[in-house]
Amino acid sequence: MNKSVRTRFAPSPTGFPHVGNMRTALFAWLFARHEGGSFIVRIEDTDVTRKVKGAVEAILDGLRWLELDWDEGPEVGGKYGPYFQSQRLKLYHGAAERLISQGDAYYCYCSPQRLEEMRAEQVRRKQPPGYDRHCRELSAEERRQKEAEGIIPVVRFKTPLEGQTRFNDLIWGGVTFENSTIDDFVLLKSDGYPTYHLANVVDDHAMEISHVIRAEEWISSTPRHLLLYQALNLEPPQFIHHPMILGPDRVKLSKRHGAVSIIEYREQGYLPETMLNFLALIGWSLDDKTELLSRQELVDNFSLERIGKTGAIFNRDKLGWMNGVYIRGLSPEDFVQRSLPFLDKGLPLEVKRPLDIDYVRQIMPLIQERAKTLADVAELTKFFFVDELDYKKHPPIGKNMDAAASATALEASRQRLQALEMFDEASLEASLRPLAGELDLNTGQLFGTLRVASTAEVATPPLFQTMAVLGKERCLIRIKSALDRLSVLRS
Ligand code: GLU
Repeated sequence: MNKSVRTRFAPSPTGFPHVGNMRTALFAWLFARHEGGSFIVRIEDTDVTRKVKGAVEAILDGLRWLELDWDEGPEVGGKYGPYFQSQRLKLYHGAAERLISQGDAYYCYCSPQRLEEMRAEQVRRKQPPGYDRHCRELSAEERRQKEAEGIIPVVRFKTPLEGQTRFNDLIWGGVTFENSTIDDFVLLKSDGYPTYHLANVVDDHAMEISHVIRAEEWISSTPRHLLLYQALNLEPPQFIHHPMILGPDRVKLSKRHGAVSIIEYREQGYLPETMLNFLALIGWSLDDKTELLSRQELVDNFSLERIGKTGAIFNRDKLGWMNGVYIRGLSPEDFVQRSLPFLDKGLPLEVKRPLDIDYVRQIMPLIQERAKTLADVAELTKFFFVDELDYKKHPPIGKNMDAAASATALEASRQRLQALEMFDEASLEASLRPLAGELDLNTGQLFGTLRVASTAEVATPPLFQTMAVLGKERCLIRIKSALDRLSVLRS
């Protein structure tokens, strides 16, 4: 057990919780849990212009749904709080002042307009983008002048002009950046809020984060962060940049590829245990074959060393397969309970609510094998609930039979069923199987006709089980409606 392992998930509340972010959270959570350390959630809400209402709640909701519990952060607090960066501005101002007084940062008075012109000029000259250090060496007098004009400055870091910044990434190994390729980036904006770079470094240090686990897209920020750690004389954490989640076209997974918000997957009827298992295996593996791992197995076996280097593809077919496996593995009662909200939402309005739970309990085992998502359950069971079936799509006519022969078969079945005292699977079978021969039909023809008559579907759970759950009264009414439908067809 390593008590000093402290990982964090540091989302910006700028939108819905993308599955990519959730996988970052998952890796950080798994590592913390595996090591017996702490998992911290910190909300990086310093970009006021990009804040989205409800985003924090959606992110926390996503974490809760996956049961990624956090030891410190929003709602639970902790001794390193507050855990919203917007409530920690003093710390960033203190760091910025310290850097200025040491000569490692400076005030920059360039107007947005000047910066825009500078950028346009760089584009024209095909120069790399970046601040041209116009204010880096302003004299005290020049600064006073700007202040007197009422210009509110930003604070920029005085990036060393030479040398290299190196770090050892646990996934990438040694990474080296030339300082000359890094511009004098902004630390504090004119609205008084810090940039990501400053706030991230100040907080990872203040919160004693031991391992920064984040997506590869942040790797180019890391030399900036290291320069800040150095200037502030702080020890940097260990860095781990994991590969991104890609779409099938090997481009970063985005809306273009379909649902990307974890909340959407919940609404589409994926189980949280599926998503946990599935996301863990995008970029991490136990070995080259194991696909199914429970939460505990993931915690027990997780290691940063087994995160791969190459981008990993989000494979929807595999997700569907895996969800089916997890659905089949649920206890019957668990499946019922998880299906209820989806039935409530998906069944036609005419079906009376609240649903009859005992009836639901009889139905659900019949479809548990076939459901790929919880959202499927309403469609798969609809015919159990509605009062009237609609035979337009599938007329109750058996294979190689005409309407007259089908009507004869249904009428004979009706009489048999009426006489039945027990309406269970075995009694139904014992009564109907011999009937096929008597009517000179094969069983497929008779059972097919009965299937459509009692469900208006051609693919259903096993016929006798289905009829037993529907019950005698409902089956007889349905056969009667099928007969009515046939007489319409015949007239
Ligand atoms: N706020 C950043 C994000 O939205 C955090 C990146 C990091 O983990 O350093 O992903």
